[in-house]
Amino acid sequence: MKKESFLAQEPKYISKNPPHIMPLTATSSFVFETTEEGRDIFSQKEDGYVYSRYGNPTVDAVGKKIADMEMYGLEEEGFGLMTSSGMSAISSIFIALLEAGDTVLTQKNLYGGTAEFIAKYLEKLGIKVIWADLFDIDIVQNIFETNKVDLLFCETPANPTLSCLDLDAITEIAQANNCVTVVDNSFCTPYIQQPLLLGANFVIHSTTKFLNGHGNSIGGVIVGRDKLHEEIVLDAIKLSGTNCSPFEAWLINNGMKTLALRMDRHSQNAMTLASFLEMHPQISHVNYPFLKSHESHELAKKQMMKGGGMISFELVGGFDKALQFTNNLNLCTLAPTFGDTDSLIIHPASSSHRNIDPKIRTSQGITDGLIRMSVGIEHIDDIIADIQQAI
Ligand SMILES: *Cc1c(COP(=O)(O)O)cnc(C)c1O
Repeated sequence: MKKESFLAQEPKYISKNPPHIMPLTATSSFVFETTEEGRDIFSQKEDGYVYSRYGNPTVDAVGKKIADMEMYGLEEEGFGLMTSSGMSAISSIFIALLEAGDTVLTQKNLYGGTAEFIAKYLEKLGIKVIWADLFDIDIVQNIFETNKVDLLFCETPANPTLSCLDLDAITEIAQANNCVTVVDNSFCTPYIQQPLLLGANFVIHSTTKFLNGHGNSIGGVIVGRDKLHEEIVLDAIKLSGTNCSPFEAWLINNGMKTLALRMDRHSQNAMTLASFLEMHPQISHVNYPFLKSHESHELAKKQMMKGGGMISFELVGGFDKALQFTNNLNLCTLAPTFGDTDSLIIHPASSSHRNIDPKIRTSQGITDGLIRMSVGIEHIDDIIADIQQAI
């Protein structure tokens, strides 16, 4: 064999016993021993991999692990299909389940990207969208009585006031009306809340946030409770090319191993900080679902195992005071994401929500002095000291 041919060959990978940690299967395609085997795998007569956009062992193992977490406590076996981002999990499930003439029901205070996607693309594709206050069960009931709704998409707790939707009640109404429910569970993760146990049909995640937890990858996942829908969702991912890269999946798997430890600590720190801020004279309001004063307190205690790592609070002094506060921070970082190990802060009125009419913004609880914080896993004394000095 000439040097050129030798260099072009894949080296033989030899491992006598299995590696302890799941290998990163960075390959675009898979080898068939024979043409007959290739034919049988292609036509799904035989199990096997073909091409990484259709499926990849590393990616599939991580999707399965998230699905098993979301299905924990249920008898059935669900599926988990990883995507390239939280947004592509959302766009893919819409492509998979909706067609022109359908109606989608959703809430007004969705994650910004989701709201923009629905407004920009779904209506253009001939899908009717109803934006409603899903916190009011009577309103939900009334919408179902006067409309044929095909898909309900929601998020709880909702950004940034952390108000909670009653998933049990909402999914019951949806089910009675043959409507599919999809819940974005990125804020809680399945460690804290399992919408499938409360009657939802699908859960989606931005794994970018708490599931990965280390801020070094973008990814998403679609979890479904019945195998029947797996083909439909997988086809949408395959053909729109929204598959997850094996490297991202591998990073997410690393992060998830400490999910329980992190969520325990995030929740404990957030609760302590929220209680501290509630007593502070320069803070007029604190939003944290596990605080007794929060509007969703009882509901949160019912459907969430812990309070989670997200809080928001309002500074006395409005916009200027908020800017001064954020610029004074030392330990906490100003960054437009959440769910990392370190404490992250944003000021919605000057960042994520700056283009929204101040009247509409304020009516959703996003006032000029509101601060959103992803409480990290640092020592609580250091977090409180930083917040205290910045105020
Ligand atoms: C971040 C986020 C998304 C979008 O996820 P990406 O991974 O950034 O695409 C969707 N929903 C919620 C609740 C989010 O926080």
